[in-house]
Amino acid sequence: MVAVEIRNLKKTYSNGVVALKGIDLDIYKGDFYALLGPNGAGKSTTIGILSSLITPTDGSIKVFGLDYKTHSQEIKQKLGIVPQEFNFNIFETPLQIICNQAGFYGIDMKTAKKRALKLLKDLEIYDKKDFSSRSMSGGQKRRLMIARALVNNPEILILDEPTAGVDISLRRQMWQFLETWNKNGLTIILTTHYLEEAEYLCNRIAIIDKGDVITNTKKEDLLNTLKLETLICTTKDSITKLPDLGDLKVVQKDHNIIEVTINSDVSVEELLSRLKTQNIEVYRLSNKSNRLEELFVNLVENN
Ligand code: ADP
Repeated sequence: MVAVEIRNLKKTYSNGVVALKGIDLDIYKGDFYALLGPNGAGKSTTIGILSSLITPTDGSIKVFGLDYKTHSQEIKQKLGIVPQEFNFNIFETPLQIICNQAGFYGIDMKTAKKRALKLLKDLEIYDKKDFSSRSMSGGQKRRLMIARALVNNPEILILDEPTAGVDISLRRQMWQFLETWNKNGLTIILTTHYLEEAEYLCNRIAIIDKGDVITNTKKEDLLNTLKLETLICTTKDSITKLPDLGDLKVVQKDHNIIEVTINSDVSVEELLSRLKTQNIEVYRLSNKSNRLEELFVNLVENN
């Protein structure tokens, strides 16, 4: 079932900048969907239009079959939006902030408070509930934004750079929350600069660049198009002579580290056995960059 259908979406800002040239996207119910692209690609514009904060110049959007032009109120009820910038009143407490948001959706105070307390617990900021939100750390404020976006039990959660500036352990914790909600049926759309985030979490990936969609596919299909991959091999013993691996490119990086670039025809097992025939035993193996990052750079550079 299509959750969000975007057709020929265009946006030209009043200063003449063409942010979206007519994009088409389909996001399915249950997807964990990443919208990727370099700075200025048009990601925030797309999210802004979905959030009704930006008016498109042309095109159509349907959410669960409902047209934005005629059913924007019903659609709003189905969405939870987490914008990039903190946009709550820092003098209010987290509990007030979430309950006020519930008020915009017509949720009665008793239900709102119950849901707010549960969300604060789920997101592990319960102990902050009665303090001014000004006193919260950046990561806690970000979790508050997510809690606020979930108070109306949305069917689709849209997050613009949810983990920007969040340290690695907190980022992983946020991934866990998002993964759990997604497994429970929530459709999630996110933009991110962290490609390993998209690779880890998402099942579908769209890359936009200069206002156009350059790829929009299942993550696995996208990663399968990756032809070359560079592996870092840490060996047991020092390497005295660079191994001859035929057509594979080998570069020595340290006395016991080599980088080998393999193509999709060569399995890791084959690489290890080729190295073994040259008396090189690999102790650790890792990707030089994550696979999506390699693809992303290739696609955007060649666009
Ligand atoms: P991204 O989120 O992918 O970095 P944006 O959607 O923010 O990209 O921006 C797309 C393009 O639109 C950029 O060239 C940006 O400078 C321009 N842009 C964004 N917002 C505005 C605005 N309010 N007025 C004019 N130009 C804008």
